[in-house]
Amino acid sequence: MEKLLEVKNLKTYFTLKSDRIGSRPEVVKAVNDLSFDVNKGEILGIVGESGCGKSTLGKTILKLNHKTEGEILFKGSEIFDLNDKDLKDLRRKMQMVFQDPFSSLNPRKKVGSLLAQPMQIHKLGTKEEIDAKIDEIMKEVGINPVYKGRFPHQFSGGQRQRIGIARALMLNPEFIICDEAVSALDVSIQAQVLNLLLDLHDKYKFTYIFIAHDLAVVEFISTRILVMYLGKIVETAEKKELVGNHFHPYTKALFDAFPATDPKGRDERATVLMGDVPSPINPPSGCYFHPRCPRAMDKCKLEYPPLKEVSPGHKVACWLHE
Ligand code: SF4
Repeated sequence: MEKLLEVKNLKTYFTLKSDRIGSRPEVVKAVNDLSFDVNKGEILGIVGESGCGKSTLGKTILKLNHKTEGEILFKGSEIFDLNDKDLKDLRRKMQMVFQDPFSSLNPRKKVGSLLAQPMQIHKLGTKEEIDAKIDEIMKEVGINPVYKGRFPHQFSGGQRQRIGIARALMLNPEFIICDEAVSALDVSIQAQVLNLLLDLHDKYKFTYIFIAHDLAVVEFISTRILVMYLGKIVETAEKKELVGNHFHPYTKALFDAFPATDPKGRDERATVLMGDVPSPINPPSGCYFHPRCPRAMDKCKLEYPPLKEVSPGHKVACWLHE
């Protein structure tokens, strides 16, 4: 399989300004030494609770954040080494769909103008060609082009997210990062937008990274899943393998949090996540999950477990699976 994206030992740290004289500045380790690949045409779901670093990771991959260390290779080229022209070309191929389409769409601009913008910035096409592309893409995402003269607030939340997707499609991208793209929508609208993303994937063979805190959503859309906890990968596998065979206690807790359709069938040994995600400024010693892990051992408090392959393509970072 052709690798589209390679992330190697990536770290994104943020230094916080201290308001106390003489105290050392605090460092947030939002992305803490991650390595993974994304193959052409796949949908990699990245899941974890809020604050686990998944959105920072998405923005760093698109160079919307700095990186502290490591490599991000798109088709073999390090994106942080590209000059302005090459980076602009790359931006055509890599697009992002955000959680809140209302804040990512300028409320003072009509939808037609918002959709025209990416092609105008990249100096692509005549006015007539841009108009034709707007009509084509609006139809593609299920919005009648006659509404292109309306403002974003005149659309529903689901329609605004469709417009956000349309904007990402205007430049014929190859790779799209969806960051909590359906989290703000009602469940029924979520399903419609997820199905739209899947239809577009089938038609155009896009590659997606789909970031969400909701495992049900990630499981629905992804072909492979990567579970993050406090800036690190704790488990990753093909979707079928992870659903049937998850090993890490954190992954188990995320699956156990699914509402049971039959209360009698509820697993008595279900792992319930207690407490909040610890601060990435001062993570716990050893395995970062140990204060919340029902299976923590003495060793877990001392050493961070390496991410090890337990079967082809299935990796886990847990001392239970050395
Ligand atoms: Fe739990 Fe220990 Fe595994 Fe961490 S390494 S998930 S604390 S058992």
